[in-house]
Amino acid sequence: MSEPLKIIPVVPIPSHLVGQIEAKLAYVDEALRGAEITPDGSEIVLTLAADLDSGQLARIENKVQRVVEEMAKGAIQPKVEVLVDHSDRPVFYDQDPMDELLARGEVSEEAKGIYLLGPLVTRLVQFFESRFLLLADEFGAEPYRFPTLISAKMLDRVNYFSAFPHSLTFATHLREDLDIINRFAEETHYHPGGLNSPPEAFSKIEALLSPAVCYHLYFSLADHPLPDGKLVATAVGNCFRYESTNLNSLERMWNFTMREVIFVGPKEFVLENRQKSRRFMEKIFEEIGLVYHVETANDPFFVGEFRKQTAFQTAFQLKYEIRASMPFKNSTLAVGSYNYHQDFFGRHLNITLPDGGPIHTGCTAFGLERMVYAFLAQFGFDPANWPPVVREWMDE
Ligand code: AMP
Ligand code: ZN
Repeated sequence: MSEPLKIIPVVPIPSHLVGQIEAKLAYVDEALRGAEITPDGSEIVLTLAADLDSGQLARIENKVQRVVEEMAKGAIQPKVEVLVDHSDRPVFYDQDPMDELLARGEVSEEAKGIYLLGPLVTRLVQFFESRFLLLADEFGAEPYRFPTLISAKMLDRVNYFSAFPHSLTFATHLREDLDIINRFAEETHYHPGGLNSPPEAFSKIEALLSPAVCYHLYFSLADHPLPDGKLVATAVGNCFRYESTNLNSLERMWNFTMREVIFVGPKEFVLENRQKSRRFMEKIFEEIGLVYHVETANDPFFVGEFRKQTAFQTAFQLKYEIRASMPFKNSTLAVGSYNYHQDFFGRHLNITLPDGGPIHTGCTAFGLERMVYAFLAQFGFDPANWPPVVREWMDE
């Protein structure tokens, strides 16, 4: 039996906000299974759990309206600037590679949003890693290894909880209590919907699963002057973003990996290196023949902070996204970003330049699984269609 649908009228949603509002509607209510904005932006089609009473329906509708109001009301269409455009290069495939990847056992889904990758995908990840490491070498970036867990105290210092509460993933453990641990060992099992243990058995949250890579570097530099006044570092790490019903394929994973090159220092140093990163990667992507463009973008702030923060990011061009073409659905997907945080981390974490002023930071970040997914979406599975640089690397 199909789930019930309900169509509700909303204040007109401008087309540039459709994707971002739909993404946030996933977090409105556990009984809301899907929400699609109609093409003219005047209505939303809600897919709901069965057997809701009228009170529950009214509460869900009210929450949906609040999201739309807060995100769309008075929103000004940002001027999206395209910095480079290589979207006219040839593509060799028009299917969703996810189907073939699953059929070949190259990707398997362990649980929602949790994927493991087989040998072909792993080798392609390694190929792209080799290119990103060329970028890191260009700057003489120092290598780092960062933990998968991240400090709750430090994330709070940089206002992460108010900006991105929806996608957090928490790490907990059983409380140090013999009775609690024994009861857990004897009684706990998995049932559909999760473990059957009571919430009181778990500790308070001191750590989370890390949502990004560069934060760890800034945290390690907190409350000190930066000895040399500048630093370039690189690291690859596991990242976690709970994207709810949007967790669908290698496009949106709960647990994915990111390679970053991170710049810390005076404003001009960070901005120049961000620019240099873009130039360098343009050559790398040209060699691969990737079909993409780079444009101004914003981070996925939650509803309350969305309008203010995205307007700020756009006005100051703080984020550029590398958007790769996805031919099978005639759209694009962000495979990486060039970010400038101004002195945000310097101020919040009290990291200073030798002259006492706050440091500026920026990073170049690539999602490894998405990079491979976009590559396969454009070039397919027949190595004869792959660019020589990829073929040769895979043969070695
Ligand atoms: P961001 O810090 O949001 O710019 O993310 C950097 C890169 O990480 C993006 O350009 C994506 O390639 C990748 N990424 C972000 N979120 C996800 C996700 N949920 N699943 C897979 N890759 C992601
Ligand atoms: Zn970063």
